[in-house]
Amino acid sequence: LVPRLRPFTSTVFAEMTALAVRHDAVNLGQGFPDTDGPAGMLETAKNSLFGGDNQYPPGPGRPELRAAISRHRQRYGASYDPDTEILVTAGATEAIAASLIALTEAGDEVIVVEPYYDSYAAAVAMAGAQRRVIGLVETDSGQLELDLDALREAITPKTRAVLLNSPHNPTGTVFSRAQLAEVARLCVEHDLIAVTDEVYEHLVFDGAEHLPLASFPGMRERTVAISSAGKTFNCTGWKIGWVCSTPHLVAAVKAAKQFITFVSGGPLQPAVAYALDNELEWVENLRVSLQEKRDRLSAGLADAGFAVRPSAGTYFVTADVRPLGFADAAELAWTLPERAGVAAVPVKVFTDHPDEWKHLLRFAFCKRNEVIDEAVERLRKLV
Ligand code: PMP
Ligand code: GLN
Repeated sequence: LVPRLRPFTSTVFAEMTALAVRHDAVNLGQGFPDTDGPAGMLETAKNSLFGGDNQYPPGPGRPELRAAISRHRQRYGASYDPDTEILVTAGATEAIAASLIALTEAGDEVIVVEPYYDSYAAAVAMAGAQRRVIGLVETDSGQLELDLDALREAITPKTRAVLLNSPHNPTGTVFSRAQLAEVARLCVEHDLIAVTDEVYEHLVFDGAEHLPLASFPGMRERTVAISSAGKTFNCTGWKIGWVCSTPHLVAAVKAAKQFITFVSGGPLQPAVAYALDNELEWVENLRVSLQEKRDRLSAGLADAGFAVRPSAGTYFVTADVRPLGFADAAELAWTLPERAGVAAVPVKVFTDHPDEWKHLLRFAFCKRNEVIDEAVERLRKLV
């Protein structure tokens, strides 16, 4: 393995899920739902599979899916041409990797916010670029926000792109309009590309609003906006994602994408198109139910002795393990499946500064209520 990929030989999700299986633990580590998406979407997929629709889809994605993605994106007041400004990918993961491979190279720096989703560091490394990490800071009200001073300092003549994820995995932070406006201003001032990971765009709570960075002044033409069906329609295994950007940037991402997977998920693409057009009410019910699940798990974790942090979006809540007498959440996480029969992920594995994040565990609440309750029941007996 080449040196630049040596830090990435395994993923925390695969390892933690394997550990959960071995110890028959409730898996609140890997973020995937344990119920299915809308019946109409599944029916549409079935019809494709049995209707002989099982060969390569077109390179940029099925036209009806690109049209549906374009209509869906209109909710943010943005219009993207399905023929030139939208590309279907193998999940958001491929979209992120292909964007970085297409748009950055050796000598370029990519600014990444820590804690960061695990594929980001690997994708920057595959592109041969360097990551420059900035952090989050705590406000007086105990919320996290972007460290904008650190962002300003991180920008150098080598900076090519900023990779931003909101709603943010693993902290559940939804970045505010004021913060995003400043990120946008800096991108324009320094002529940077923004790659935005918006896979949790629908999963925001308590009236929080998802604001695409591309909708800020000067950003439409420099933002590669990425999303995916997995989280919106409970189909994380389908790996149908997409890119919305300018014809120029989409063509660049496509140049990389077409030699990574070429195409994927042909028979599933019409089903996602159907869901984007017809199932947003289902998604709203999902959002409401996830907000209740966040509250259910947060209350249970607090009851078990964790100091639970606020989460305004995503599948995840983070919790401080220090009140339970543990100094390092990672040490706890690797023994938790055996000790307590529950799996969670230590936040420090998503960072370049593990000491600053070593007290936090990430728990997924995208699970049936009885699963959440069972996990809480087990964690109550931890100490
Ligand atoms: N970005 C973030 C922030 C995620 O949490 C995930 C995991 N679901 C992905 C990207 C990957 O999305 P996909 O499964 O569509 O590749
Ligand atoms: N996105 C999911 C998470 O953050 C897991 C995805 C994966 O297993 N790679 O838990």
